Amino acid sequence: LSKLMEKQVVDGLREVFQSGRSRPLQYRKQQLRALHRLITEHQADIEQALKQDLNRNTYNTSLFELISIENDIKLAESDMADWAAPQPVKKNLNSALDDVYIKPEPLGVVLIIGTWNYPWAMILQPLVGAIAAGNAAVLKPSELSENSARLMKELLPLYLDKEMYQVVTGGVSETQELLKQRFDHILYTGSSVVGKLVMEAAAHHLTPVTLELGGKSPCYIDKNCDIAVACRRITWGKFANCGQTCIAPDYILCEPNLQDRIVEEIQKTLLEFYQKDPKSSPDYCRIINTRHFDRVLALMNECTIALGGESDRSQCYIAPTVLADVLPYFKIMQEEIFGPLLPIVTVNGLSEAIHFINAREKPLALYVFSSDKTVIKRMLAETTSGGVTVNDVLMHYTVNTLPFGGVGNSGMGRYHGRHTFDQLSHHRACLIKSFAMESLNDARYPPLTAARLRK
Ligand code: NAD
Repeated sequence: LSKLMEKQVVDGLREVFQSGRSRPLQYRKQQLRALHRLITEHQADIEQALKQDLNRNTYNTSLFELISIENDIKLAESDMADWAAPQPVKKNLNSALDDVYIKPEPLGVVLIIGTWNYPWAMILQPLVGAIAAGNAAVLKPSELSENSARLMKELLPLYLDKEMYQVVTGGVSETQELLKQRFDHILYTGSSVVGKLVMEAAAHHLTPVTLELGGKSPCYIDKNCDIAVACRRITWGKFANCGQTCIAPDYILCEPNLQDRIVEEIQKTLLEFYQKDPKSSPDYCRIINTRHFDRVLALMNECTIALGGESDRSQCYIAPTVLADVLPYFKIMQEEIFGPLLPIVTVNGLSEAIHFINAREKPLALYVFSSDKTVIKRMLAETTSGGVTVNDVLMHYTVNTLPFGGVGNSGMGRYHGRHTFDQLSHHRACLIKSFAMESLNDARYPPLTAARLRK
């Protein structure tokens, strides 16, 4: 039954898409404005859902979820006409008299699959670009952030064109059914393991994919830097959303003699941010469910706890935790932590840090804290990652003129701002000729004789 329903949803959207409804930019703008109204008029409901899903402080909803969607809507509204316009390109001798341009055009029906850690941004930010590019879309929010998923399914049809944009809820089996359908693009956010399944399913229809995956994002603290400021920024980015952020600094790399100072500064900051008892702080989130709680807790097993370590399964609470002298072969260094545990791995200087990073999968984000320009330059030149922020964490995500995405195991493709529009458009190559100057074509028509080619 589900298979039939999902087929009907996709077929229905494709039919309306093919009728040309979303071709006029005016239609896309109107839908974007409606989406803007949805998140503004229902901010309180969204906050409530996030409180239930993740114990997120209501003040954080705007900062961590809605601002990025709103900024993308504003940018698309003002610049969409430029993005969608034909882009003339350089001509060669043969095409000197022709029109030669690239025309971005909608792809069709896009599938957007999102995660539970930022349930609104992971679905609606890609949707902004899908609408701006003129596509229809199926949205599949994560079943784990169930309150957000339910609310999204309820609200979307009240604001957007139901015949072009639909929310499908459900877990693994519903998503797998959905993936059997033919889409024109799939934008998937989630783990690398499931990313491979999505790509496999997409291959069946030759559907292009954008995979926004995760991994371990390293954070190198150089001896030459303001350690207090560095630790303040790192503490914020690591423990926000209880460490369940794809670009959270996963682990710290530093020289052995910096470790104690770093622990001390993080301790000071934690006290300032979450007071003595983070469990009762309104700013401190919870782990999404007991499965993830058990997984994260088990990662601590071999480690020396420098700070925190307390937990309460009944609340899915794990204290902000710093682990010292962590060795590369520990379990915690084999997988993405996605929780409030911050291991410190010591290395002997920059070259060793670079080697450590390059010996592992290409990360989604990379952070380096240093006042020394040569250190920053070397780190950037000799490593790779999806994105990088120097002397801060997470913030490259918020600049929507920068493409956001991974490389290698952390994903493929990019989005945010114009990049989403480009990712979800087909860039059609257009050459428009006239009937004039037919004699110029003689050189390519048979019979090709030496005499004719010399002409
Ligand atoms: P999740 O369990 O919510 O899964 C993500 C989506 O995939 C959900 O909609 C879920 O229903 C679907 N799904 C899960 N298993 C599936 C299967 N076997 N077949 C088909 N669909 C399936 O989220 P998650 O994977 O636990 O998310 C955490 C991961 O996502 C982390 O690795 C994190 O780094 C990454 N992430 C990346 C970004 C990014 O922008 N690059 C953002 C957020 C999270």
